[in-house]
Amino acid sequence: MRQARVREVVGGTIRQHMAARLATGWASAKELSALLHIGEKEVYDHLMHIEKSAPRFGGMLVVQPAVCRDCGFVFKKRGRLTKPGSCPLCRGTFVEEPLFRLEHRGGGEQAG
Ligand SMILES: [Zn+2]
Repeated sequence: MRQARVREVVGGTIRQHMAARLATGWASAKELSALLHIGEKEVYDHLMHIEKSAPRFGGMLVVQPAVCRDCGFVFKKRGRLTKPGSCPLCRGTFVEEPLFRLEHRGGGEQAG
């Protein structure tokens, strides 16, 4: 019981660090992985949790979609947070990483 609890707290701490970083501005998974000393896969895992839980704290995870550097194709339809391997239009592999930011809602009314 105690061990499980500790693990939960540690995970929560990483997530809190990540959320704090994201609240200051855009960050890529690579940057978060270096900052928190965890693998990128783990970063995406935490990001998904943050995305789900953010509304409870009055915020929301904003995702800037990946963009193909060759033709400018924007990977908007891609619902996932992870970086795509290659561009469906030009097959280019120079894909700009998606960026993440934590925004605080409240205040102004926004449509959409
Ligand atoms: Zn392309």
